[in-house]
Amino acid sequence: MNTRKHADPVAPRPATSGADLLNRLAAHDHEQVVILQNRATGLRGFLAIHDTTLGPAFGGVRIKPYASDFEALDDALRLARAMTYKASLAGLPGGGGKTVLVEHAGLVREAAFESFGTFVENLRGRYFCARDVGITEADLAAMARTTRYVALDPAPDLGDVSECTAIGVWHSLRACLEFAGIHGTVRVAIQGVGSVGACLARILARKGMELLVADVSEERAAVVARETRARVLSPAEIVSAGADVFAPCALGGVLHAASIPRLACRIVCGSANNLLATPEDGDALAARGILYAPDYLANAGGLIRGVEFFFLGRSDSGESLARIYDRTLDVFRLARERGIAPSRAADELAESRLKPRKSFADVTWHSELHAAALTHPGGPPRLK
Ligand code: NAD
Repeated sequence: MNTRKHADPVAPRPATSGADLLNRLAAHDHEQVVILQNRATGLRGFLAIHDTTLGPAFGGVRIKPYASDFEALDDALRLARAMTYKASLAGLPGGGGKTVLVEHAGLVREAAFESFGTFVENLRGRYFCARDVGITEADLAAMARTTRYVALDPAPDLGDVSECTAIGVWHSLRACLEFAGIHGTVRVAIQGVGSVGACLARILARKGMELLVADVSEERAAVVARETRARVLSPAEIVSAGADVFAPCALGGVLHAASIPRLACRIVCGSANNLLATPEDGDALAARGILYAPDYLANAGGLIRGVEFFFLGRSDSGESLARIYDRTLDVFRLARERGIAPSRAADELAESRLKPRKSFADVTWHSELHAAALTHPGGPPRLK
């Protein structure tokens, strides 16, 4: 549990030089950061756009307390970049962005989200946002009063986005099992049986797999275990449980120097974002002979469904989700050919769609034209 005391976001911060700020952006070539500040509503945060080479930046809005402004900024920068890689590898006509809002006592919530919507609207389609950690339906409704560029969910005919993510993880897992030559009864240890993990458990149970599940909510673990005939383990046991597959569906950063030596599986494939604590942890998994399905490849199902529904007007994304199977095999084959870890191979494939086309013109990307080309015949939702 994070016991760090949350600093008052309105209190003065230690000065940080402008060069430091720009170096943070230059490190991974972020295009733009919008600093979100509105004193009347208490809106504070950052909207980061990493890359729009392939189309508008897609990315959720999250709200939570942060210990400092720079912690919030770094979260936005890191998450925006991951969205670029996810969209690129999934073959989507878009790039990566993310908004991080600071939760604090002075926030006038509804008005703050309306104010935030005006920032998004002023980007005229360069950034299209959706729900992420801490965002409620009421928050989305408040944003939608001031911007057209927000995905309202739930929406009729959209379906369950978390279920789409779980289906995508299943397709990635199929490729992992095939590549690793694992047949017969497969045992899977699922860490976290929330929206995605519970769906994944149901899919795997239907495929006849043997399941181990763990959740910090004992009740949730028990409900899913009953439904899927799984055995419940404690959160402490699940990482080192003997299984063919470890499926992390709870938190990021669970694969690191201390946990990797404890893994007792042949495959890691789950839904959590930013699973590797550092890029070197991907190499450590490969060195241990554990096949790792890169997180942003395996968990792209929700993004694929959102983009296909809101931008491309597709009623069904089943075939696109199934293509995660082929992409996972492509990544593993490239990794084997080049003698590199799958996490490095996935980065290379994602970058190969971006780098040859990247130019200064992306920053002045003609949002209205792209939005018109991408949006289904009804056009973006109208402001009321
Ligand atoms: P969720 O909050 O519904 O579920 C997470 C579950 O993990 C909860 O039940 C929680 O109690 C449990 N948990 C937390 N810490 C744990 C621990 N240490 N050990 C065991 N269980 C723990 O979230 P979700 O929507 O199911 O998403 C799961 C992960 O997948 C997140 O990392 C999320 O960022 C990522 N993801 C989700 C989607 C989606 O469509 N929902 C898409 C892409 C990525």
